[in-house]
Amino acid sequence: MRTEHLFAPTLRQVSGEVELASHRLLLRGGFMRQLAAGVYSLLPLGLRVVRKLDTIVRQESDAAGAQEVLLPTLHPLELWEKTGRADYLGPELMRLKDRNGRSFCLGPTHEEVLTTLVGGEIRSYRDLPLTLYQIQTKFRDDPRPRGGLIRLREFSMHDAYSFDRDIPGLDRSFDIMVEAYHRILKRIGIPYDVVEASGGVIGGWDTKEFELRTESGESHYLRCLHCGYAATAEVANVAPPPMAEPTEEMLPYEPVNTPKAKTIEAVTAFLNLPAKRLVKTLLYTHNGRVVAALVRGDRELSEDKLRATLGGGKLQMADAATVERVSTAPVGFAGPVGLNPVTPGDECYPERSEGSRRFPIDIIADDELKGERNFVTGGNAADVHLLNVNWGRDFQVQTWAQIRDAEAGDLCPQCSHPLESYRGIELAHVFKLGAIYSNPLDAFFLDEDGQRKPVQMGCYGMGITRMIAAIAEHFHDDSGLIWPTSVAPFDVTVIPVNHDDATQRDLAERIYGELQAAGLDALLETRAERPGVKFKDADLIGIPGQVVVGRLAGEGKVEVRRRAGATRTVDATEVVPVLRELLLETCPR
Ligand SMILES: [Zn+2]
Repeated sequence: MRTEHLFAPTLRQVSGEVELASHRLLLRGGFMRQLAAGVYSLLPLGLRVVRKLDTIVRQESDAAGAQEVLLPTLHPLELWEKTGRADYLGPELMRLKDRNGRSFCLGPTHEEVLTTLVGGEIRSYRDLPLTLYQIQTKFRDDPRPRGGLIRLREFSMHDAYSFDRDIPGLDRSFDIMVEAYHRILKRIGIPYDVVEASGGVIGGWDTKEFELRTESGESHYLRCLHCGYAATAEVANVAPPPMAEPTEEMLPYEPVNTPKAKTIEAVTAFLNLPAKRLVKTLLYTHNGRVVAALVRGDRELSEDKLRATLGGGKLQMADAATVERVSTAPVGFAGPVGLNPVTPGDECYPERSEGSRRFPIDIIADDELKGERNFVTGGNAADVHLLNVNWGRDFQVQTWAQIRDAEAGDLCPQCSHPLESYRGIELAHVFKLGAIYSNPLDAFFLDEDGQRKPVQMGCYGMGITRMIAAIAEHFHDDSGLIWPTSVAPFDVTVIPVNHDDATQRDLAERIYGELQAAGLDALLETRAERPGVKFKDADLIGIPGQVVVGRLAGEGKVEVRRRAGATRTVDATEVVPVLRELLLETCPR
C-alpha cells in the first residue's frame, strides 16, 4: 500500500472531551471516526487491526476444536422473554418492531439463539461435546458509552459456547477454551490478569475475567501478591477483620439540619466529619420488595454480594418515587431509623408511618458496621441527618453480611495477607452456565442411560473492538501508538526522507518491493510532504518497523528501526532479515 492511496486522515488535535490516550490516538491516527455516542466507523487502518485480531482468534478457536458459525443479529424478542432476560436487561436491550408489529431485539449476546439452535438439532449423547463460536456485531444500549472503543453500543465480539452431557464434560470444555484465550492473549502480546468475577446478567459459576491492568480502566479488582488470589471488587469475599466490640458509649441521637447535602461528599463537608463516620442507606427492590442496604460512607455497595445475600433473583436500585415514598424525603436523605420496629409491638415512629409508607423494611447491613457506634445517617426527612445513630438501639438489622466492594488493604480470603487494588480493562469473560439456558430453551438430549437430560453449557466472550482500545491504551507514547507486530495494521513503513530525491525514491521503491516479496505487510510513504510531517505521521500511526531512506541512499545504506526503539544503519540488501529479527522482538513496554 502507498500512503497516497491510504485513507487515513490524521489529526494534529482532537477535542478536549477525549480522556483516554487510546481514544485520542486512534482518532488522531485515522483508525476510526465517531458516528454517534458509542458508535464508530472503522477506517482502513482500524479494520486492518481488527482483521489481524480476528485471524488470531479464529486460529486459536479452531485449534481448540471449536467450529465457527454466524448467528443473526436480529433476534425475536420472545426468545429473550423465555429466559427472562428481556425484562432483566430492560432498556439495555435494543428493541424494534417489524412491519407486522412483531417484536425483535438486536443481540447483545447469543445464548438464547444458539441454545435454541443446538437444542433443536442435538438428539443423543453421541452428538456431544460440541463447541461453536462466532465473531459477531453485538448491540447494547449502554447509558454511558465512553472511552472511544472501550464502551460501545455497537461492537464486535468473539463469543463461543460449549455444550456437554455432564458437569465433568463442561469442566473439560471450559478448560480447553480458557487455554485458547490464554494463547490468544499471549500471541497478541498484551499482559493480563485472570480474576474471579461475577456472572452478571449472563449468570453461572466459575466466572473469570481477563483484565488488562491500567489506571484508566473501569474494572476494579484485587490481587494477593502472597498467594495469587485475584477477584473483582464486587465478588472478592475478603476475610473479616478481627472484630472488636464497640467501645464507645452510645450517645443520644440528634437530628441536624443539612440543607441540600444529598451526597456523602456534601454531608462530610457540611458536618466536617470523615466519610467513614457516615453510613449510607441504599434502597433496592428485590423481587418487587423494598430492602435497605447499609454500608459505611467510605465504602461502595456490591450489588453482586447483596443479590447473593438475598438468595439471588431480580435486584434493582429503587427508583426516585419509591425512595421518596419509603424515606418520606427527597432522594439523598434516606436512613435506617424508622424503617422497621425496634422492639416487638413498637409503633415504629407512628408520626412518620402515615401515608403510603409500608413497614417493615428489611435492613441488610455490611458486617463492617457491627463494630461501629454513633454514626451519621440520613434522617428520612428533607435536609435532615441524624447524629449518633446506633444499630440495635435505633434500628434493627435483619441480616448481617459482607455486602461491600473489597478494597486495597482488605484481607485475602485464602491467606489473610492484605490485598492490592488495581484498575483494569476487561478483555475477556468466561462462564460455566450449566443448564440455566438449556432448561427454559428446551435443549435436551437422550443420555446413554436412556434419560432425557439438559445440555450443560459454558460460554466465552472476548471483545474485539475493545481489544483494539486496550492494546492502544497499553502500547503508546507521547508521539503515538506502538502496535505489537501481532496486530499492527502494517509490519513496516518505508519512508524516503526527501521526496524530490530520485535516488531515495528509487531505493525506497525497491526495498518496498522486496519487503512485499518476502511476505511482509509494507506501507510505502509516497506523499510529497515535508520529512517532519512524514515522521510524525509514522510515529502517530505506530507501525512497528520503519525503514528510513535518506542521505546514505547513494551508498546503498538505509536506517532500520523499531517504532520507539533504537536505529541501525544497514545495507539496503539486509533490510528484510534485519526487519524480521526486529519484528520478532517483544514489545517495548
Ligand atoms: Zn492470599
